[in-house]
Amino acid sequence: MEKLIFIKYGELTTKKGNRNVFIKRLTNNIKSILGNINYKMKSDRSRIYIETIYIDEVVNKLKNIFGIHSIVVAYKVDNNTDIICDTVLELIENLSFNTFKIDTKRALKSFEIHSMDFNKIVATKILKNKSVKVDVHNPDILIKIEIRQEGTFIYFNEIKGLGGYPVGIQGKSLLMLSGGIDSPVAGYLALKRGVDLECLYFESPPHTSEMAKNKVIELANIINKYSGSIKVNIVPFTKIQETILKNTKEEYIITIMRRMMYRIAEKLAKKKKMQVIFNGESIGQVASQTLSSMNVINNVCNIPVIRPVACMDKLEIIDIAKKIGTYETSILPYEDCCTVFVPKHPVINPTIEKCELYEANFDYDSLIDDAINNIEVITNLEKKYEDIL
Ligand code: ATP
Ligand code: MG
Repeated sequence: MEKLIFIKYGELTTKKGNRNVFIKRLTNNIKSILGNINYKMKSDRSRIYIETIYIDEVVNKLKNIFGIHSIVVAYKVDNNTDIICDTVLELIENLSFNTFKIDTKRALKSFEIHSMDFNKIVATKILKNKSVKVDVHNPDILIKIEIRQEGTFIYFNEIKGLGGYPVGIQGKSLLMLSGGIDSPVAGYLALKRGVDLECLYFESPPHTSEMAKNKVIELANIINKYSGSIKVNIVPFTKIQETILKNTKEEYIITIMRRMMYRIAEKLAKKKKMQVIFNGESIGQVASQTLSSMNVINNVCNIPVIRPVACMDKLEIIDIAKKIGTYETSILPYEDCCTVFVPKHPVINPTIEKCELYEANFDYDSLIDDAINNIEVITNLEKKYEDIL
């Protein structure tokens, strides 16, 4: 008997025309996330098989890969009734249970015994050897037997995969990543739909610290376990923020600052041939996220801005942040450029006209170009940023 892992695709299989592209992307993602663990991988139209002696380690990594419906650890034997029965008996020998059910699937139609009859043969063997009962409705253990061309697979349970689409199938986009709770969750949800990411972080030293920057890099590092290829672009934002402060009525500071962020994000996305921006805005969360603020801020940008958490409650977002492992880092108390210059009464219903009036006071185009030309790119996310903890 051979122990191996197989993967069911799930949502993938609904995309009939693109199936091969999806499978190729998924197998490539698996390769990059498994790194240099020793294994052999084979795929066909319905499954990916992985043979390895590092079963637990591989299963743990597969749990972070989008596009996987379920992960199964199975035992493979020849298509021989006696061998199958003996293997089942061996596998359940040390399991404690009172009731069981056998579920045979005969994918290999030339196998002479039909599924229902096969269920009976195996169940009879078990009943002779162990004092247990059959319960087809609510069994303590379910024993699955799949008879296929390449052999018979015996397994008990399926581990739920992350679902979604393989990362990268939708190309790459830019994620505005701050040190908060929302944007890493937005990034995770983008990855889940198959969008790979580069992050964009605006820093304002000395108003924001090196620790705040390292916190963002660590957040990128955490969501990178779902991607494997995330980079962080760090934009020097100090000059722009200080210029806004000098030239804008206090209540408009955040609105104008965010318009500048959007302008930079759009320009950088276009430069990198990316078509969409993602961010962590959530309706009503702060003054800059009222619908009229969103309209005025979005007005400077001509590519779609997708806000995966726009309609979620903070508690729902926090739940996801905890599940994906970003929450504890997000709540570390380092200031962000949005929090260092917060006006007492930020405008809730800004107008485009007023923004344009203040923006006419300075040459923001050259400041934006300057900021983009001085971006620092961090690619080595494996580096640990323990000093933030
Ligand atoms: P988060 O929304 O991630 O919890 P936050 O609440 O500090 O962080 P907001 O002020 O709500 O941030 O900003 C809304 C969104 O704008 C963020 O989710 C993020 O996508 C983007 N953003 C804010 N500040 C920055 C920054 N310094 N760098 C990059 N993106 C930012
Ligand atoms: Mg927020």
